[in-house]
Amino acid sequence: MHASRRQLLQSVGALGLLSLLGRGEAKGFRAMPWKNWSGAQSCLPAARVAPASEEQLAQFLRAATGAVRPVGSGHSFSALVPTDGSVLSLGNLRGMITHDAKTLQSEWWAGTPMSQMGAPLKQAGLALPNMADIDYQTLAGAIATSTHGTGPRFGSYSDQVVGLRLLTANGDSIDCSAQQHPEIFDAARCSLGALGVITRVRLQNRRAFKLHRREWVQRFEELLEDMPRLLREHQHFEMNVLLHADTAVAMTMDETKDARVIPKEPGGDVDKVALLQRVHLEWKNSPRIYAGMINFLVKHAVSFPEVIDDSYKVFANVRDVRFNEMEYEVPAEAGPACLREIMAKVRKNKVDSFFPIEYRYVKRDSSMLSMFQGRDTCAISFHQFYRMDYHNVFAQIEPIFWKYDGRPHWGKLHTLNARLLAPLYPHWKDFLAVRESLDPQGKFLNAHLRSVLGVA
Ligand SMILES: Cc1cc2nc3c(=O)[nH]c(=O)nc-3n(C[C@H](O)[C@H](O)[C@H](O)COP(=O)(O)OP(=O)(O)OC[C@H]3O[C@@H](n4cnc5c(N)ncnc54)[C@H](O)[C@@H]3O)c2cc1C
Repeated sequence: MHASRRQLLQSVGALGLLSLLGRGEAKGFRAMPWKNWSGAQSCLPAARVAPASEEQLAQFLRAATGAVRPVGSGHSFSALVPTDGSVLSLGNLRGMITHDAKTLQSEWWAGTPMSQMGAPLKQAGLALPNMADIDYQTLAGAIATSTHGTGPRFGSYSDQVVGLRLLTANGDSIDCSAQQHPEIFDAARCSLGALGVITRVRLQNRRAFKLHRREWVQRFEELLEDMPRLLREHQHFEMNVLLHADTAVAMTMDETKDARVIPKEPGGDVDKVALLQRVHLEWKNSPRIYAGMINFLVKHAVSFPEVIDDSYKVFANVRDVRFNEMEYEVPAEAGPACLREIMAKVRKNKVDSFFPIEYRYVKRDSSMLSMFQGRDTCAISFHQFYRMDYHNVFAQIEPIFWKYDGRPHWGKLHTLNARLLAPLYPHWKDFLAVRESLDPQGKFLNAHLRSVLGVA
């Protein structure tokens, strides 16, 4: 009888792979290469481990001599994961552990892909209050970088966490919340995987609900002028601003009691992105024709049907076309000025990129290293097709974000190091103190984390 792939993984689990790690180190053998979603980050770790239980994980952590980097779905663009040591996945620790109809809370294994949360939550009469643009991330991975959706009255995923369990470098288990180890809790809700391995997460949910999504095309200047009303009247607003043109695709999502179901059309964004790419390649040196073509095509050749469905089916999109991304979080009130300056630079420099700029709002939160700590935020994302060089393009845009006190998204590309990041975070030193107390040997650090956190 053949064992399933999952059974096989579990049986070699952490302990089996532990011996592989030892052999690997001795012979210079590398177990299996690792690559992120966009392909820009990669490494050849000594081992890739996937423990089958918290006990196996604790044993592994106690025995590991090299660096250990937790990994989720590999959807971060920045180099949070690459290591020569062990890449550690919680792929075997997934699913709902429990839920409570009274408090509207639920507890989950931290390796759960967010795409596997909506249906069980709905069955329990619950839902996540807000979600990101995609749901391919794992719960632990999403929390580790304060992944967010849009809506000025909604915080990031880190803000939905009311408790978690952390396994530290020596295999100890710490349960934390606002009442239990509050300092660790405030650090661990957005930890970059630098404190230890999160195994369980308790979330504050709300009752299940339906969303109504509408999209339309409008000049982005008009949308910026109308922004206070749009943000007041809609729970979720975002726009995708078309590069080299004057238009944006605006989108609102609002809770509805409408009994109808109008599901999303199947398929992802391939056709839309291909259209933008074709126009870019053909007309990038003729700015007036380029702008006219984009403005015309997005209005007349692309349709944006409305959607009414369960919230989790409406929030998350399919992103089939790979890209690299830089995102900065600027104070909410600075969003329009920052966007105008970026668009002017794109036009002036004929910046070689065709993906729209994503423009969203996020409510302030309180975890020490969250990009939204202490300030309501406008999140502005700049993308580059994965086959085109992003360094030169991002280098032209990034200094604009610095002018507006931007904090880079931890999971996306940027060039800041600890010297420049520390002044942006009032609780920077508190986070470093928690990290030092939990992992004095730096078992959970890699080169990128040493650079952004300033740890020698
Ligand atoms: C197509 C696409 C769309 C995206 N859309 C959005 C969006 O709408 N909003 C947004 O904010 N971001 C977005 N992102 C970024 C993405 O949500 C974040 O980078 C997120 O952290 C990725 O989660 P992951 O599960 O892939 O984790 P990974 O990228 O694998 O890891 C991220 C971090 O989590 C840590 N980690 C993973 N598991 C654990 C664990 N068990 N314990 C401790 N630490 C752990 C890792 O060490 C690492 O530091 C998008 C990315 C892509 C590719």
